Amino acid sequence: MKVTTCRVHVAQQQDVHLTVTESRQHELSPDSNLPVQLLTIRVASTNPAVQAFDIWLNSTEYGELCEKLRAPIRRAAHVVIHQSLGDLFLETFASLVEVNPAYSVPSSQELEACIGCMQTRASVKLVKTCQEAATGECQQCYCRPMWCLTCMGKWFASRQDPLRPDTWLASRVPCPTCRARFCILDVCTVR
Ligand SMILES: [Zn+2]
Ligand SMILES: [Zn+2]
Ligand SMILES: [Zn+2]
Repeated sequence: MKVTTCRVHVAQQQDVHLTVTESRQHELSPDSNLPVQLLTIRVASTNPAVQAFDIWLNSTEYGELCEKLRAPIRRAAHVVIHQSLGDLFLETFASLVEVNPAYSVPSSQELEACIGCMQTRASVKLVKTCQEAATGECQQCYCRPMWCLTCMGKWFASRQDPLRPDTWLASRVPCPTCRARFCILDVCTVR
């Protein structure tokens, strides 16, 4: 059932087909609250008297909705659903790192497998770029590239206060290898 200012939409569960047609992510930024992904779900009924309508749902409640429904929810091919804060964070982390300056590896240096997952090659290097070398709380890390972007993002997220996601992006965490402190601005993609 969906209630709007001038209409009430009612559809019976046994007659409906639900399809996630769109997902919209709201940016996690240092001064915003929780990051959210909103899903648009189209409710279509096999009963010709019932007009199709859309409902909106926070992606973290998607699992609960699936459990309560007796029929599966279909999903348009292009829609990716992030059900946890960690998933949401990783996506934001990756998009922020993308705009940081890239780091060129010396041509003599071979990129090794990421020591976190051993599945892909190392793809990031910590370079202090947020402030001048001798100022601020961040420190220069001298480790060679050892981690992939996803593992670095997971590490970053794992060092955060799970109850204060609004502080995640602005915080500093130690390098997993040498413990030099870094922030998101210091994570550079290796070219
Ligand atoms: Zn990895
Ligand atoms: Zn380091
Ligand atoms: Zn920094």
